[in-house]
Amino acid sequence: MSKFFYNISLPLAVQGTFTYSSDIRLEIGFRVLVDFSNRERIGVVIKKVNKPAFKTLKIKKVFDDFEIFNTNELALLHWISDYYHFPIGQVIDNFMPPYLRKANAVELQNNDLVSEAVPDFNLDLTSHQEKAFLALKQLKGFDPCLLYGVTGSGKTEIYIKLIQEQLKSNQSVLMLIPEISLAPQMVKRLKKIFGELVAYYHSGITNLNRWKVWRDARNGNKKIIIGTRSSVLMPLKNLGLIIVDEEHDHSYKQVEGLSYSARDVAIKRASDLKIPIILGSATPSLSILRQVEDKKFKKTELLERFNQSSPPKLTFVDINANNLKGGISEIGQKAILDDYASQVLSMVFINRRGFAPEYRCSECDWVARCNNCETNMVFHHEKNRLICHRCDSAYGIPEQCPDCGNSELGGVGYATESISKYLQDNTPIDRGEVYRFDSDTTKKKGALTELLKSINDAHQGVIVGTQMLIKGHDFKKLKTVIVMNIDSGLTSINPSALEDLGQQLIQVSGRAGRLDTKAVVLVQTRYPDHPFLEKLKSGTYMPFAMDLLTERKKQSQPPYAYQALLKSSSTVIQKNINFLEAILKNFELPGCNFYGPMPASIFKVRGRYFHYVLLQANKRTVLHSALNQLEKRIGQLAKSSSVRWKVEIDPLNF
Ligand SMILES: [Zn+2]
Ligand SMILES: [Zn+2]
Repeated sequence: MSKFFYNISLPLAVQGTFTYSSDIRLEIGFRVLVDFSNRERIGVVIKKVNKPAFKTLKIKKVFDDFEIFNTNELALLHWISDYYHFPIGQVIDNFMPPYLRKANAVELQNNDLVSEAVPDFNLDLTSHQEKAFLALKQLKGFDPCLLYGVTGSGKTEIYIKLIQEQLKSNQSVLMLIPEISLAPQMVKRLKKIFGELVAYYHSGITNLNRWKVWRDARNGNKKIIIGTRSSVLMPLKNLGLIIVDEEHDHSYKQVEGLSYSARDVAIKRASDLKIPIILGSATPSLSILRQVEDKKFKKTELLERFNQSSPPKLTFVDINANNLKGGISEIGQKAILDDYASQVLSMVFINRRGFAPEYRCSECDWVARCNNCETNMVFHHEKNRLICHRCDSAYGIPEQCPDCGNSELGGVGYATESISKYLQDNTPIDRGEVYRFDSDTTKKKGALTELLKSINDAHQGVIVGTQMLIKGHDFKKLKTVIVMNIDSGLTSINPSALEDLGQQLIQVSGRAGRLDTKAVVLVQTRYPDHPFLEKLKSGTYMPFAMDLLTERKKQSQPPYAYQALLKSSSTVIQKNINFLEAILKNFELPGCNFYGPMPASIFKVRGRYFHYVLLQANKRTVLHSALNQLEKRIGQLAKSSSVRWKVEIDPLNF
């Protein structure tokens, strides 16, 4: 007769936990092996319960000699499950080190504790940095604070000093960064100072190493963890401070599977643990700015760049009547050549990789489209392929138009590859002095580091790149920045489009201005008089952001309203629509509005169609109450229709 009963979470797409029995007493948070539907599964002990009325199966095995999640962490996982409307078992699976999903994971030996003394080092701060550091040092208890530091103001030195303070009082620090590509420099820098106390956690390291880092954080062997969003639950012993660097970055948001924001989970974690959290950014998100405005979050500013140069002003270049060459305006062409002659670097920023975003027939309307995604295929010249950027399928280049037989086909529009080629073929700039910087040229291991090094060593030339360019990389000799293809940001229906555009323009212009000569930022647009672009001319972010915030308040839009998407996908369009309409039929809740069903902006991927209903409420509680009620209806409906569905809270894109 079993004496003990426990609720176990399993990584299944169903709400709730499952009750199993055990002859021995178990601890909460341990991994166990159980049978579920005649299959062995790994679960986590969630709760001790009374003997249930129904028959239970026995827990077959207990793994590991310590808990994977402690009670604080389990409470946070439950909050994530409730807040993001996702099954607890899958939430736990999402944050568990992937190595532990296997039953035969090796048991790690307990490492001897590294008893490193807190390193003593000298770090000279400017008076502005010192002031910001002293303000942040004062934070006590749950004390969220925005560190608004303009690009090039030296936030990292402040983080380092704050980490040192934490170590002195025997506490540990979790530092979140948005992208793996940013980490090497940061990790190198921190390791140089703090040695073995630092570890790095992200999806690019092996599963075994991730598990080791997890365990070292738990037993106190590592005291500083730098990681991407998956490390937000890192079980650091005596966690005293969380830093979220570049808090505005969309990489903190996971969309596939569990849709959540690691930044927002970090804030909740700091609140649970009653510890300070610092949110750093040169272009803070509107949602954090609202918290500051409401006095819920503090703000510390760092407005001086360390070389005391002012941020570069933005010039908007009207391309309606401009004679573009290789996509670049005349004034842009001239600036690039002048830079080249005076031995500095220029940059062309375009958020599109490949050679041409379209491949078409010169005689008829035919455009190469992906069969699986109904999207235009991107022409890649070097690879000699048409590639779908949604599903990665690649096709050979057709010799004739499939519709009219015409043999004159070609790419239309610009992207990183064609701009690079234009500069190489049509200007005095040397082939080797055009540096293409996108996911195609940095894919290979070590390629990014090598590219950064050659740019750093370059005497002159042009960097041509995508979004990757603006994430934390500094280019010392950069003078002119040309920004292309921004207009979709001005016309998009996505709630975050304008905010993103403003952030992007300030971040990209911040890459320049490390030189003694004045930086030049030329932004090509068909809407040079757009009121929001007007606000960005000074090169400073806040006037733009505060205006946008006021606008949002007037219109009761996020962050002054709360949104969720109810998303469905199916291979048949009508099934999506029927499903969403059936769920919403006769449903009403005061304070909550519904819009849809509507086709998603990414309408079809890999043969599946996507639709959504937008829910918007002025209170979070109303939004969640609506979702909870709708989910009850879905439970009955989803079985009979063959659609997949999910909820996304605080969506950035529709
Ligand atoms: Zn044709
Ligand atoms: Zn596709």
